[in-house]
Amino acid sequence: MTAKRLFVLQFGAERVPKSLSLRGGPHDLAWEPFSGIVVETTDGWILFDTGMARAAQDDAATEAVYRVGAVGLGHNPAVATPAVHPTPSDSLHWTWVLPGDPLVSALATIGLSPSDLALAVISHLHLDHSGGIPTLARAGVPVAIQSAELEFARSGRARFEAGFRSDDWSAATVDWRRLDGDTEVADGVRVLSTPGHTPGHSSLRVDLPDTGTWIFPADAADLGQNFLDGVTCGSCAGGTIADELRARESFDRLRAEARRLDARVVPGHDQVVINAVRHPPGGHR
Ligand SMILES: [Zn+2]
Repeated sequence: MTAKRLFVLQFGAERVPKSLSLRGGPHDLAWEPFSGIVVETTDGWILFDTGMARAAQDDAATEAVYRVGAVGLGHNPAVATPAVHPTPSDSLHWTWVLPGDPLVSALATIGLSPSDLALAVISHLHLDHSGGIPTLARAGVPVAIQSAELEFARSGRARFEAGFRSDDWSAATVDWRRLDGDTEVADGVRVLSTPGHTPGHSSLRVDLPDTGTWIFPADAADLGQNFLDGVTCGSCAGGTIADELRARESFDRLRAEARRLDARVVPGHDQVVINAVRHPPGGHR
């Protein structure tokens, strides 16, 4: 069985060193999109990832996390970073998001609202992926995530300075659906367990009737260049050698599956790829 169709969303973007996406890569700054996927299935609409919260965008502490990281690598914060489309309204800022609630605004571009969703899947709890969880909770949408990710977030080791914003995932009203490994959450939609970047990171596989298999690695592979050069993501939240090895295993697994299934791969943070796959307007079937 397959899903019906899918759309790629963009919630905003962040200005980060490429070495954050490419292990051993250059420290040049680049604008990377906050992306998400919406899939229409026989069980309703399923969302994968939510971008960053409006409250995080408006909080100077979020800016500081990005700025401190860049300045630590020798960047001058007063020098703008060029962007391909879409252009940030303030190119000296470190992040931007869509107006209002970014999740609500992104869904509206395809005529949906949060209450239309049957389920949301969160790849991991970094603030550029988890910001819409409170909106989902208010709309009564269940949120699927690997148990290992929730446990890491609640362990006290998931610090704000490392990109974890507890306001996103601490509300008692979130209807969590815990996953333990690979899980088919609807016909044609599979959550793939791809730990390493964070301890409970997930990717998504979608099978469609006309275009076949799509793989969305989220932060298991931020950029097309990860696949071309065979390099993993640039950071592992767990911080151990075992986390690095898991990231490598997860990345190799995604590459092998993509090859075996002749899949289309859409990295989580590649603006050029995201721009290309946001067409056609009716979604991919
Ligand atoms: Zn991440």
